[in-house]
Amino acid sequence: MSQPHIVVIGAGVGGLTAAAALTRAGLPVTVLEAHVYPGGCAGTFYHQGYRFDAGATLAGGFYPGGPMDRVARATGIDAWPGQPADPAMDVYLPDGSVITRYGSQARWVERRRAFGPASEAFWQWQERTADALWTLALRTPTWPPQTPGELVRLLGNGLGWLGQDFPTHLRSQLMADAVQPVARRLGNASPALRQFVDGQLLIAAQTTSHRANALYGAAALDLPRRGIMHMTGGMGTIAETLAAAVEENGGRVSYRQTVTQINMQAGRPRAVITKRGEEIRADLVIANLPPWNIAQLLGNEMPSRLARLPEMPRDGWGAFMVYAGVDTGVLPADAPLHYQIIVDTPLGEGNSVFLSFSPGWDTGRAPPGRRALTMSTHTELAPWWTLFEHDPAGYQARKAAYTERVYQAAARAVPGLRDATNLIKPGTPVTFRRFTRRGWGWVGGFPQTNLFRAWGPRIMPGLWMAGDSIFPGQSTAAVALGGLRVADGVLHEI
Ligand SMILES: Cc1cc2nc3c(=O)[nH]c(=O)nc-3n(C[C@H](O)[C@H](O)[C@H](O)COP(=O)(O)OP(=O)(O)OC[C@H]3O[C@@H](n4cnc5c(N)ncnc54)[C@H](O)[C@@H]3O)c2cc1C
Repeated sequence: MSQPHIVVIGAGVGGLTAAAALTRAGLPVTVLEAHVYPGGCAGTFYHQGYRFDAGATLAGGFYPGGPMDRVARATGIDAWPGQPADPAMDVYLPDGSVITRYGSQARWVERRRAFGPASEAFWQWQERTADALWTLALRTPTWPPQTPGELVRLLGNGLGWLGQDFPTHLRSQLMADAVQPVARRLGNASPALRQFVDGQLLIAAQTTSHRANALYGAAALDLPRRGIMHMTGGMGTIAETLAAAVEENGGRVSYRQTVTQINMQAGRPRAVITKRGEEIRADLVIANLPPWNIAQLLGNEMPSRLARLPEMPRDGWGAFMVYAGVDTGVLPADAPLHYQIIVDTPLGEGNSVFLSFSPGWDTGRAPPGRRALTMSTHTELAPWWTLFEHDPAGYQARKAAYTERVYQAAARAVPGLRDATNLIKPGTPVTFRRFTRRGWGWVGGFPQTNLFRAWGPRIMPGLWMAGDSIFPGQSTAAVALGGLRVADGVLHEI
């Protein structure tokens, strides 16, 4: 096919990365975004003088040769606006101890001694495995392989490299880990190590050590060592930088454009229809959406994998958020800006809370003397929707109760936070659905429990899926890697 017109639905980080790489390769691309700014779950919104990160707050993958470095090179971005961040975060455990996650290897090795000498074997396994996987993922980002060509590339380029450069015992270790959970590597770890690993896995793999796949989990636990940055202006700057690259490369990003239908002809996309009633030619569509949303746009034309989806996501999460404007002095000047607070198990539902403050130097994020704070906890979707649809007063009461739980957890790390708060704005899965249009406000993609059930990006001829529902799943770095894979696949297909 010569010069197909490509439409990307949704200006999330995954879709924008694919769009920026494809425009850089000279293809005509239009990105249609329903909202008034890009970024979706990793967007940053204005409210009463603050710029709040909507969901994602911790930006990783910026180390030389890492995912965001590759994205910059593939899309023509000169530099990502921001400053390196180390330590990545402080993690508060239920017993009150605090583990600082340093990016610096020497400091991290020193700090993790707090888990006792028996934990060292776990960390050495984790780092060895993560090093192999990150290298493999960056060399051959074709998991799961969906075409004979991708299988050949995976076997030749990726596994061939493993074959040459790896001692036999490490190869067999990787094979065992491909089908077992992280918990098998924890052995009889101390409760503190288990709680720490579970907390970190929940935010990085959307599940805990008993269910998280060991290979994926090892790589996910490595994120704090992989180039964390504070983005100037907030997380939305990643998407804004990508959107600018799309336009500089000759593509178009169009806001307030909700796609309501993908029209098919002879088993391929032909056009998309927008809420305004426009029909836009689309020889190839990249849907930066969860599979449930794509199914809705296709109607009867959906392929069997989409038709087999359950009514609503059976696992995975929603997010309960508190956006707060706080006095800058509530944090000491040299304190970390990110905190994970683990109060109790099971994690989520206010038992584990993630806090991110805007940096003092980033004066565009808050009025003078203030900071923007985003707090979140994982939450089940169904109870929110039942209350929202049948019991509005109950929905409001649950919102107030969750806000309280989040503040109580946060006070463990930041005493006086409540008194230092000038503005509070809670958000629920209902809010996420409204602003990102993701069905039921399902965020973070599929929990990474099984490598062999991961979704690849090809949905049907001419229709691709980008974003956190495809491997390697959630996080801005992961969806950006997925976006590069989509661009690469599209360039092979046309
Ligand atoms: C609470 C929370 C905390 C997180 N924390 C972190 C973190 O600290 N670090 C990190 O790296 N990641 C984090 N993540 C994960 C990260 O935000 C996501 O994995 C990533 O941003 C998802 O990107 P995506 O490409 O899938 O697109 P999405 O963010 O899902 O964006 C999809 C876009 O499509 C648009 N859209 C939807 N339907 C239509 C339509 N019909 N027509 C047109 N446009 C449409 C939406 O408006 C949206 O802009 C967090 C997520 C959440 C929810």
